[in-house]
Amino acid sequence: MIGAGVSGCSLAAALRRLGWGGSLTLLEIGRGPGGRSATRRSRRDPALAINHGAPLFNITASPEPQLLEPLRRGGWLQPFAGASHSLDANGQLGPLGADPFCSGQLWQGQPQMDDLCRGLLSLAAASGGWDDIPLQRAAALLEDPQLNRAAAALAAIDSSPGCQLLLTLPEATAQRWRLQPWRLLTFTGAAQQRWGLRRVSQQPQRDGRWAVVAESSADFASRHRQVYGSRSSAAQLLGAPADLEAEQQVMAALERALQAALGLTTTGAERQLMRWGAAFPHPPGLDPALALCQASRIGFCGDTIAGPGFGRVEGALRSAEALATRLLPQL
Ligand SMILES: Cc1cc2nc3c(=O)[nH]c(=O)nc-3n(C[C@H](O)[C@H](O)[C@H](O)COP(=O)(O)OP(=O)(O)OC[C@H]3O[C@@H](n4cnc5c(N)ncnc54)[C@H](O)[C@@H]3O)c2cc1C
Repeated sequence: MIGAGVSGCSLAAALRRLGWGGSLTLLEIGRGPGGRSATRRSRRDPALAINHGAPLFNITASPEPQLLEPLRRGGWLQPFAGASHSLDANGQLGPLGADPFCSGQLWQGQPQMDDLCRGLLSLAAASGGWDDIPLQRAAALLEDPQLNRAAAALAAIDSSPGCQLLLTLPEATAQRWRLQPWRLLTFTGAAQQRWGLRRVSQQPQRDGRWAVVAESSADFASRHRQVYGSRSSAAQLLGAPADLEAEQQVMAALERALQAALGLTTTGAERQLMRWGAAFPHPPGLDPALALCQASRIGFCGDTIAGPGFGRVEGALRSAEALATRLLPQL
C-alpha cells in the first residue's frame, strides 16, 4: 500500500478488521503518518505539535465509518470541543453558517491530528517500511485497460493548493489570543477576499505555549503556489529549491492579514510556512467503479474518490473501508 495518510492507514486497519491476517506493507514518502491530516513536530522542540493540515474532521453521512468506534475506544479520537465562529468582511464575529468542514459530528485526533493515523496503524498493527515505489513501473508492464483509465482519471483530477502560516506565540502575546471566544474561525467569502485568509485555528501546546495556524484563501495560495516552506517535504525530501526571500514575504503577508483581520498582535512569534501543493481536490473525483482494478490487483482509496466526504477526512475513511471490503476476497 502506498501512502500513510488517513486513507492508506484506514485501508490497513479495515483489512485487519475484516479478518485479513497476512502481511501488509505501507510505503510513505513523508516523515511520518498523517498526510494532509499530519502534525508538524520538531526534534529540536519535542513539546511542539501543530496540526498543519486538517485541524479537525467531520462526519456528515450515516452510518459513520466503522473504524471510528475502535478508534474512540482506543483513545485515539476526541470530539472537537473548540468553539467555532465565522468572521465577515467587516471583522465581525458571527455564528458559523453552513460550512462543509464543520457540519455534522466534529472530531479531532487525540491529542493531535496525526494520532488519527497512529490509531489506525495501531488497529492494523502495521509495520512501516521504506522501499522503491513500484506502481508506475508496474502500471507500464501490466497493460490493464482499467488501471490505465484509473491512472489517467486520477492524473486529471485538479486540486487547489493550500498555504498555512504556523505561529508559536510567546506567553505575553498569547494572552489576548486565549481570551478570544473561538478556537476555530472560518472567514466568509467576502472576508476571504478582503484578507486572503480562509480559516484560523488556535492550538494550545502541552507545555503551555500557544500555536496559531492561519490558512490562506484558495486565491492567495494559487498566487503563491511556487513558494515552498524551507522545512517542507518538498524542500527537504524532494530537493525543491526553497526561496527564502519569497517565503519570508508570504509569511509576512499572511501575518499582516491575520493582525488586520483580528486586531491581535503576533509580537515575538516563531514562524513557519507550510505549503500544500494539492490540498483540496476538485469534484467529481475518481469513479468508485475504477477504484479496484481486478486484473492488475491494484486499488485506490483516498479523499479523491467520488462519494460522501469527498475532499475531506470522511471521504478518506469511507473510501478505504469500501476498498477493503472489495479487496478482501482477492487476497
Ligand atoms: C490545509 C488543509 C486543511 C484541511 N482541513 C480539513 C478539515 O477541516 N476537515 C476535513 O475533513 N478535511 C480537511 N482537509 C482535507 C483532509 O486533510 C484530507 O481529506 C485527508 O487528510 C486526505 O487523506 P488521504 O489519505 O486521502 O490523502 P493524503 O493525506 O494526501 O495522504 C496521502 C499520503 O500518501 C503519501 N504519498 C503520496 N505519494 C507517495 C509516494 N509516491 N510514495 C509514498 N508515499 C506517498 C503522502 O505523503 C501522504 O502521506 C484539509 C486539508 C488541508 C491540506
